[in-house]
Amino acid sequence: MDEARKDVPEWTADQVEKALSNGDSHKLIDVREKDEYREGHLPGAISVPRGFLDMQVEEVVPDKSTQLILYCAGGTRSLLAGRTLREMGYGDVVSMSGGYGGWKGSGHEWVKDFQFTPEQLKRYDRHFLLPEVGEAGQAKLLQSKVLLIGAGGLGSPAAYYLAAAGVGTIGLVDDDVVDMSNLQRQIIHNNDRVGMSKVQSARETINTLNPDINVVGYETRVTSDNIMDIIKDYDVVVDGCDNFPTRYLVNDAAVLSGIPNVYASIFRFEGQVSVFGAPDGPCYRCLYPEPPPPGLVPSCAEGGVLGVLPGTIGTLQATEVVKQLLGIGESLVGRLLLYDALEMRFQMIDVPKNPDCPACGTNPTLNTLIDYDQFCGTGAEAPAAEVPETTVTELKRRLDAGRAPFLLDVREPAETEIATIHAQLIPLGQLESRLEELSGHRHQEIVVHCRTGARSADAVRILQRHGFTGAINLAGGIRAWSEEIDPAVPVY
Ligand SMILES: [Zn+2]
Repeated sequence: MDEARKDVPEWTADQVEKALSNGDSHKLIDVREKDEYREGHLPGAISVPRGFLDMQVEEVVPDKSTQLILYCAGGTRSLLAGRTLREMGYGDVVSMSGGYGGWKGSGHEWVKDFQFTPEQLKRYDRHFLLPEVGEAGQAKLLQSKVLLIGAGGLGSPAAYYLAAAGVGTIGLVDDDVVDMSNLQRQIIHNNDRVGMSKVQSARETINTLNPDINVVGYETRVTSDNIMDIIKDYDVVVDGCDNFPTRYLVNDAAVLSGIPNVYASIFRFEGQVSVFGAPDGPCYRCLYPEPPPPGLVPSCAEGGVLGVLPGTIGTLQATEVVKQLLGIGESLVGRLLLYDALEMRFQMIDVPKNPDCPACGTNPTLNTLIDYDQFCGTGAEAPAAEVPETTVTELKRRLDAGRAPFLLDVREPAETEIATIHAQLIPLGQLESRLEELSGHRHQEIVVHCRTGARSADAVRILQRHGFTGAINLAGGIRAWSEEIDPAVPVY
């Protein structure tokens, strides 16, 4: 051994790590047996077991002046292998002391190659042909875990395609059973499954499609009490829920857990998709700081939904999930995709991160989950009751008569890109610091609007506190304007 050390200098794991991260021109060779290598190895290491060294090394490293860094399990085999290589004429050979065990023990990065079965090599062949996916990408998908909130309209196509693509673990949260009225769009279920739990029905469909997939079922509803525990093991969350309390809950839990949340919602002929909760990206609250008043937005069960619509939107979600898992392409982080099936129109709007966002802003105030039923207004008193109000009909009458009041919009800039009635914009979160811009209207009428009337009611209270005597809330917000006055203004 001492003889060998004379010819082959030894580097510690830290020294090797430094050389690797400097990107020096060297070759890193793992001289352990193949099965040891398969269990894990240094990133970028080439496997040449010691017994094959003299036969294979000249093929792998033809240039004998190349620096070779060798390692084995503990440091002995590589030292001896180094000596052999020196004898073969390689001029610069280094052995890592402590070997792979020492490397792992000092907390350095290691990797394990995925071993595909012959069936998997066939199944994922079309992915292997894409350099952006390839074997490494497919291995990543098979080792990924995606949690779907809801196995209904959106969850059906999303889960089905993710399973086909080989996303190895699919978690499904749904406490519902399959109903005949689901089958017009929830394609993961079928006639024979009516009455069966949706989780079980989806599991059977997925397993028939692709036995590689491990389906983890949660026959429950996500709540503030259980969601953190459920999502903690997943790489990505897919929000396919159909109600506001769950949507805010999923958003906040994803932000708190640092897990990207592929969001979508659908109604009648329209849908929207985005990716929230990514590092530096916005969240659902950045886009919609407040929920609509309870009862204002009908659910699909009340308002109907085109059967194909969730197929389109859920498949877009699955696309974003796969991109997110593989780290390829340009994701919907910071963008909201709007789809109108009747017009067959896609529209993209930017969603900036709101620095004042209570969940993901610069100084987040929301450090724990809250009561989302209460937040979304179940049982709460109508917040706009105590402030002076006007109606959209009255506003329209005055505009027509040429007696337009001063209009203030307290929504977020992204919302004005969707729909606007051309009011001056000061987002609610900035109102108190920007009151000077309104100083000319201190004792004049200011009609304040937001999306549905709740934020603008808060704005009226703020204005009143600061001595603005003529602040009035526009009841129902821009949504009421779209519905009652001008259908050309999009509802969102
Ligand atoms: Zn946010």
